[in-house]
Amino acid sequence: PGHLRVILGDQLSPAIAALAGLDPGADTVLMAEAMGECTYVPHHPQKIALVLAAMRHFARALRARGVAVRYVALDDPANTGTLAGEVARACAALKPDAIIATEPGEYRVLEAMRGWAEQTGIPCEIRDDTRFLCSRADFAAWAGSKKQLRMEFFYREMRRRHRILMEGDDPVGGKWNYDPENRKSLPAGLAPPEAKRFPPMAETREVLALVAARFADHYGSLDAFDWPVTARDAESGFADFLARRLPGFGDWQDAMAADRDFMFHSLVSVPLNLGLLDPLDLCRRAEAEYEAGRAPLNAVEGFIRQILGWREFIRGIYWRHMPGYATLNALGADLPLPDFYWTGATDMRCMAQAIGQTLRRAYAHHIQRLMVTGNFALLAGIAPDAVDRWYLAVYADAYEWVEMPNTRGMALHADGGIVGSKPYAASGAYIARMSDYCAGCHYDVKDATGPRACPFNALYWDFIARHADRFAANPRMAMPVRTWHKMAEPKRRALRDRAAELRRRLQHGDRI
Ligand code: FAD
Ligand code: SF4
Repeated sequence: PGHLRVILGDQLSPAIAALAGLDPGADTVLMAEAMGECTYVPHHPQKIALVLAAMRHFARALRARGVAVRYVALDDPANTGTLAGEVARACAALKPDAIIATEPGEYRVLEAMRGWAEQTGIPCEIRDDTRFLCSRADFAAWAGSKKQLRMEFFYREMRRRHRILMEGDDPVGGKWNYDPENRKSLPAGLAPPEAKRFPPMAETREVLALVAARFADHYGSLDAFDWPVTARDAESGFADFLARRLPGFGDWQDAMAADRDFMFHSLVSVPLNLGLLDPLDLCRRAEAEYEAGRAPLNAVEGFIRQILGWREFIRGIYWRHMPGYATLNALGADLPLPDFYWTGATDMRCMAQAIGQTLRRAYAHHIQRLMVTGNFALLAGIAPDAVDRWYLAVYADAYEWVEMPNTRGMALHADGGIVGSKPYAASGAYIARMSDYCAGCHYDVKDATGPRACPFNALYWDFIARHADRFAANPRMAMPVRTWHKMAEPKRRALRDRAAELRRRLQHGDRI
């Protein structure tokens, strides 16, 4: 009867561990569109369509290679709606000698997978996911008994190990990190090159119709769906990035501009997290652009740092700290998530832009996620569970292993400093410096306490005041705490009153 090889929706790589050693004459690949996975958070319809369409294309490619695929479509009347249910059904029908799977990207699913053998009475082998550049065991070995894990040191180790941008034992150019050269705002009149997009093919259009019918109550629009859903298109999108946007990626990595959804970003997280691209290959090809003189070092190093450094570090943190990580709330944040996160209906232009684009595209770039929507949630004190659920739902690239440490750790500091040594808290001045949002805003970014004062300003100082004791002990936060203490009492009072009013409005669901 052979083996049952299970492929999950974000494991769409021909080299995935579960397929290694596949015997096309005897084995069957199981792929199932599970309703439960589409609805455990209200995923953006584009994200559901992306995963289902990519799964269907992947299954077709496997069949074309002569592999037997048991594919259970979402609207198959026999579909049990869960992965475990489909594994059980496949086992009953095919009576395989063993189940072979690749470790999933979510703790919840790994726990469920560990129960498959007992539920089916058939042995189940769970293989390491070899698509990452640092295995869970390697990360554990690096972390060892270190008291604090910092991305920068992990990243240097990864550069050495994979020999990327290295000259002997030294980093190319003499520095490991060109982050200070990644912080320019976009000059007026400079338009980032349009990103190559992929209008849906016939098979994808079928999926779009299915998703429109079945998930009409989820927030987010399907209209602009143009994500690559095959390895070939993903590849062509990346080649377009290398040629046209990588050279500007370094300088304007942190910049934001109204109605510029993508700026100079690569958009690779979406196909990469599905398995359509290989992270080491992306790094090497970016490196080759530098070597050929087609892209500057600050751009190439910046891009490689995100993939080789941040992406792998974040995954390491997730597995090291789960399941406890999912409950951390170090700053005691407890406000409900405002409705405008789902609708974009707010007078704060930066938020309306970041959220509006998210609903339209299922995408926002890093600085929008971190310094606009994330920063607002941090300053206002929105409960991490609700914020986590939102980020997991609305982005086409969101899977818990990468979403959660970014949200709970990097953006909300709810992990108390596991991911980053200080909260990325900023007042409106940061947004004004890095974007053109403030110019057309209902609020005044220069004002902190009046009726039209930018909400980020009072919320920022209120945040510093509420956590002053904790932050005073952090050398990287001591400065704003000192500034707060030195402020005249009437000014402090006015800031805290304005923040209290804003938080009250948020609590009651009033528009801000
Ligand atoms: P680029 O700017 O072109 O970067 C290149 C690649 O580097 C990305 O595709 C991604 O694979 C990797 N990368 C960059 N930063 C990070 C990071 N902090 N963590 C992990 N990988 C990184 N990324 C996700 O893939 N899924 C998520 O669910 C997700 N949620 C996030 C939530 C919050 C609150 C924040 C602050 C960040 C989140 N990120 C997430 C990280 C980052 O914002 C996205 O990877 C990036 O915006 C994707 O767009 P891009 O491909 O154009 O990225
Ligand atoms: Fe955002 Fe404040 Fe600027 Fe308005 S003024 S866009 S709310 S930072």
